[in-house]
Amino acid sequence: MTTYTDRWQHAMMNNYGTPPITLVRGEGAHVYDEQGREYVDLLAGIAVNIVGHAHPKVVEAVSNQIATLGHVSNLYAHAGGIELAERLLALTGRDGKVLFANSGAEANEAAFKISRLTGRTKIVAADGGFHGRTMGALALTGQPAKQDPFRPLPGEVVHVPYGDTEAIMAAIDDETAMVILEPIQGENGVVVPPEGYLRAAQDAAHKHGALFALDEVQTGIARTGAWFAYQHEDLQPDIITLAKGMGGGLPIGACIAFGQTADLLGPGSHGTTFGANPVSCAAALAVLDIVTADDLNAAAKAKGDHLAEAVEALDHPAITEVRGRGLLRAITLTGVDAPQAHNRLREAGFLANATGPDVIRVAPPLIIEQADLDRFVAALPDALQEKK
Ligand code: PMP
Repeated sequence: MTTYTDRWQHAMMNNYGTPPITLVRGEGAHVYDEQGREYVDLLAGIAVNIVGHAHPKVVEAVSNQIATLGHVSNLYAHAGGIELAERLLALTGRDGKVLFANSGAEANEAAFKISRLTGRTKIVAADGGFHGRTMGALALTGQPAKQDPFRPLPGEVVHVPYGDTEAIMAAIDDETAMVILEPIQGENGVVVPPEGYLRAAQDAAHKHGALFALDEVQTGIARTGAWFAYQHEDLQPDIITLAKGMGGGLPIGACIAFGQTADLLGPGSHGTTFGANPVSCAAALAVLDIVTADDLNAAAKAKGDHLAEAVEALDHPAITEVRGRGLLRAITLTGVDAPQAHNRLREAGFLANATGPDVIRVAPPLIIEQADLDRFVAALPDALQEKK
C-alpha cells in the first residue's frame, strides 16, 4: 500500500527536508504516525503546542467559536480579539496596544513597519538572530545562509555579534529606528546572552531615541518560565512580538507596542485579512486560561531544570553543555553529528530537532510528564554515536 510518506514528495515542495514519517494524530505530549507508532513530542511543533495536542479546553473553545462567529475580517472588531488584547496587555502590566497577525514573521513585519514610522530607517539586529522567512523578517534575521539566496533584502539592517554589549552599544546611534533582539536566540541553538546584555541594549536604544523590540515568538507565553522572557529581567521594551505558543496550535501572532509607539500605525497603514481571526483568538484565550490554571510557568521552570540536571547527570563525553531556560533547551555535542543524533532519536520514538551540526533543541509541550523527559534522557546515550 502506498503511504502518505511515499506520496508527500510528489505533492509538496521540499523546503524543509522533511523526515520520512507522516503524523496523523496527537494527544498531550505524544504524536502518532500513520502506522500508529507513538512518539514523545519534544519539539511541540517548534515551541507551539504549549498545552499539548488536542487539549480538551482548546478543542472546545475552537469548536464553539467556529460555530458562533468564525471570521469577520479585520475591518470589524469582535469580542474575543478585544478580550485577548486586554489579557495580553494585563500580563505585561503596561499600557500598550496589540496588532494581531498570523505568524511570527508577520508580527515582526509589523514591528519593522512601525519602526519606519519613527522617521528613521536604520535597524540594529544580531548575528545568528532569527525573525522569520518573509522578506522583511529575513532582513532582520542574522543568518547569511538563509538570507543570501534572496538578496537584495529590504532595509538598512546592521547586524552585530549577539551577547556582545560593547558591539551593540557602538552600533546604536541617533539614526537608529529600532533595535530588535531575541531574549534567547532559539533557532540559533538556544543561545542565552550574558546577564545585563539586554538591559544595556535597551538603555542604549532609549538613550538614542530608538525603539527597543524583543522578538518573543519562541520565548513568549510561559516557555522560559515567565509569561514573557523579558520579565525575568524586568525590561521595558517598546515592542514585543509573539506567535507560536500563543495559539496552542492555531496560527496567530501579535505585535504589542507600549506607550506612544502603540499609536504609530494609523487607519490604512497596515493589515492582514485573518489578523485577530476569532477562532485563533478563542484558542489563544483558552491557552492563557490553561497556563494560568495549571501554572505552566512554574511547570516550565521545574521541568526544564529537571531535564537539564538529568542530562548533565549522564556525564556523557559527547555532551558539552545543556543551555537555555525553562523548557527551551539545547544540548550541545562534540564528536557527534546532531542531525544524525536527531534521526536516531526519532527512530527511538522521540521528536526533537537539530538546530545546527552540533546542537539538539528541545522545546516540548509544557504539560509534558517528567516520565517522558526521563525516557528521553535515557534514550540519549544510544543516539549519541560517533560521527560516521
Ligand atoms: N521569530 C522567532 C524568534 C522564531 O523562532 C520564529 C520561528 N522559528 C519566527 C520569528 C518566525 O515565526 P513564523 O514561523 O511563525 O513566521
